Amino acid sequence: MFTKQIGIDLGTANVIVYVRGKGIVLTEPSVVALAHDDGSPRPRIVAVGEEARLMLGRTPGNITAQKPMRDGVIADYVITEYMLKYFIQKVCGRVNFFHPELMICVPSGVTSVERRAVKDAAIRAGARTAHLIEEPLAAAIGANIPISGPSGNLIIDIGGGTAEIAVISLGGIVVSRSVRAAGNRLDEAIANFVRKRYNLMIGERTAEDVKIQIGSAMPMDQELTMEVRGRDLIAGLPRTITIGSNEITEAMDPVLQQIITSVKAVLEETPPELASDVIDKGMVLSGGGALLRNMDKLLTQVTGVACYVAENPLYCVAKGTGLALEHIDFFRRSLVAVHYVRSCPRGSTCSAWASTASTSARRRSASWAASMPASGPSSSPRTPSS
Ligand code: ADP
Ligand code: MG
Repeated sequence: MFTKQIGIDLGTANVIVYVRGKGIVLTEPSVVALAHDDGSPRPRIVAVGEEARLMLGRTPGNITAQKPMRDGVIADYVITEYMLKYFIQKVCGRVNFFHPELMICVPSGVTSVERRAVKDAAIRAGARTAHLIEEPLAAAIGANIPISGPSGNLIIDIGGGTAEIAVISLGGIVVSRSVRAAGNRLDEAIANFVRKRYNLMIGERTAEDVKIQIGSAMPMDQELTMEVRGRDLIAGLPRTITIGSNEITEAMDPVLQQIITSVKAVLEETPPELASDVIDKGMVLSGGGALLRNMDKLLTQVTGVACYVAENPLYCVAKGTGLALEHIDFFRRSLVAVHYVRSCPRGSTCSAWASTASTSARRRSASWAASMPASGPSSSPRTPSS
């Protein structure tokens, strides 16, 4: 039977879906809004994706808008599964009839437990099979880098939760670092800066807006400015200030330095033959963070190695997952194996621990699945009942 092949970039900030033969078909923020109704033991899904993102920081008491992915990995298993199911249904129709074959990316260096959580979530969300690929490899494939040759390529993916830096050769990762300093930390740094310097409290969406509209990784000669609204910490009333790019550069600096330190560490650990390839070819930037003004210039300046932004950096990983699935025999060696027996923390007996973890997850997800309408969550937010 015809099986849909779908590549998913399950990111901290965005879920991007690539369907074989169609390309990128969906880009939505990884946000789910839940209502906690009085008397009901389980929360109710109110919205998923962009609609839920618009609710961030604007919800009444009984609704919470949550990001189920944190630092690139699943922070809330059940909500992630629900979100995946919603997006898969959106691109496939009823998954009851067409169980798709999925390729999902995971950050390099996630634990085997975290990998299995992603794979299990995909299967429970209706996939026939789910393959996993490490994010830097997917990003490189999506950026049209020939990863299978005997030559070194350095890729830097700056997402919402993590920045991943990896040197790839012969279809595998030779050296890599994953640092929890990326888009979200930049937003937090901007919000903290505005609070300290202007006594103005701004929300995370406003901080992200400032970063996108006027943020720059290096000081600019012709500064951009922007009006920012928030709540005055002293008077407690709404207030507007005007802020410039160079102040935002100053605010973001500590986080940018963390990314730079990791890039330098990877360069230092790269074997000499591969380092020479990297110097020849330069480093490639992908992910939403690649769109930050002058990020490529900053990295070029501090490392002395040329840095380029990939074409459509936001979509590299999703496109790479889709291409890896399309040419799965060619890329099979690069995929991540998921082992169902693994070492476990604090010396507990592994199989006992593993089976409890997965059983409780299954139980929770079964109870959620039962509470879900067949066609997915309601597309419009319901008025909260008080
Ligand atoms: P993830 O893979 O973790 O979901 P993405 O690669 O989708 O992350 O990138 C999302 C991040 O990129 C967010 O933190 C967002 O603020 C940031 N971003 C998107 N566009 C821009 C831009 N033009 N300038 C700076 N940052 C941006
Ligand atoms: Mg990403």
